[in-house]
Amino acid sequence: MTTTELAIEVQDLHKRYGDTHAVDGVDLAVARGEVFALLGPNGAGKTTTVEILEGFRHRDAGEISVLGTDPGKPTGQWRSRIGIVLQTTGGHDELTVEELVRHFAGYYPDVRDPDEVIRAVGLDEKRRTRSRHLSGGQRRRLDVALGILGRPELLFLDEPTTGFDPEARHEFWELIDGLAHGGTTIILTTHYLDEAEHLADRVGVIAAGRILAVDTPERLGGRAESEATVSWQEDGERRHVVTGEPTAAVQQLAARFRGEIPGLAITRPSLEEIYLRLIGEYEAADRTEQP
Ligand code: ATP
Repeated sequence: MTTTELAIEVQDLHKRYGDTHAVDGVDLAVARGEVFALLGPNGAGKTTTVEILEGFRHRDAGEISVLGTDPGKPTGQWRSRIGIVLQTTGGHDELTVEELVRHFAGYYPDVRDPDEVIRAVGLDEKRRTRSRHLSGGQRRRLDVALGILGRPELLFLDEPTTGFDPEARHEFWELIDGLAHGGTTIILTTHYLDEAEHLADRVGVIAAGRILAVDTPERLGGRAESEATVSWQEDGERRHVVTGEPTAAVQQLAARFRGEIPGLAITRPSLEEIYLRLIGEYEAADRTEQP
């Protein structure tokens, strides 16, 4: 991939807070148009990394290019190409949804139609509601509305659906899918593995400031090659085999049952299981390294 095809390029990024090495040698390359999810336990260094990329925190060391610019030296023009939805926002509590969106629309050179944006995030019915009267999930939608107003080429979403009910989460995913199809590069941090699986082209797993693995959700941590569990119902109980050749197992079962296999299911490890395994392996290795 050439540098111009990359929205983000990070080499050997470091950030310390006193004794805490929050980001400890992160390398990252995100292509233009890609949806990239950063996953990791609490305190892994996700927010620190993302805020350095957004130009909000200074790094101690490392090379970074975000849309061709060093975020340590941000310009107004560069900022207008980036949309940011932070983990916690607030302020402007007395303004209505409509007033807030129109107010922020004034900041951007190439702005989306405020009415369209309010509809897109599903806040049409709340447009005259003061923001302090919105629910947590509605407030996040408003944050997203403000983040996408300026048609950003690159959108940062930090735990965007925390506090959403399942229906709101699925609606939100549709919104993000639409932005991704329109070519927006998206960096997402989330603790919801199903969210990463649904939205992300690739995921990166980070722990203690280090990237453990980067791959598509389907391939992460050898997931695609993992053995499958074939399970079925027999003699009133659930039986299963774990196998690298599930097709052969199903053929044998079909021959034995002479047709339909009761309650047949074939499953591979979920992204969550793979993620927990990666983190668990890292923690076990880290413990043996400690004196
Ligand atoms: P979470 O999933 O809980 O949001 P995270 O992966 O985003 O966590 P960070 O917020 O980047 O993690 O924090 C990484 C580490 O750096 C943690 O140990 C945290 O305590 C520490 N840290 C973060 N910000 C500061 C700060 N301003 N001052 C001191 N330490 C900090």
